[in-house]
Amino acid sequence: MPEKQPGSKDIPPAGVCWKPAKEYKTGDWRSKRPVRDEEKCTRCLTCWIFCPDAAISWDGKDIHFDLNYCKGCGICAEECPVKCIEMEDE
Ligand code: SF4
Ligand code: SF4
Repeated sequence: MPEKQPGSKDIPPAGVCWKPAKEYKTGDWRSKRPVRDEEKCTRCLTCWIFCPDAAISWDGKDIHFDLNYCKGCGICAEECPVKCIEMEDE
């Protein structure tokens, strides 16, 4: 049986996560979530470039938010040139 890996809740206060975030679902730290107006979005990828985590992906046609990893920092909303991302309370 594979050894159970610790989750983000197992990391002590001021602890350091020494493995890549993709091995842990860290989105439960978030208090706000990005919500995009798809009509207004120009698919410029600015949010994808600026997201400090790997929470925004590009499939060649559109972007997608992965809320398993989004921390709700709001950088994507701040940097979006057409302001089509709103940060909404969880
Ligand atoms: S920065 Fe704004 S306009 Fe550009 S892809 Fe992201 S959400 Fe769309
Ligand atoms: S809120 Fe922060 S972590 Fe979440 S998608 Fe936007 S930039 Fe990335």
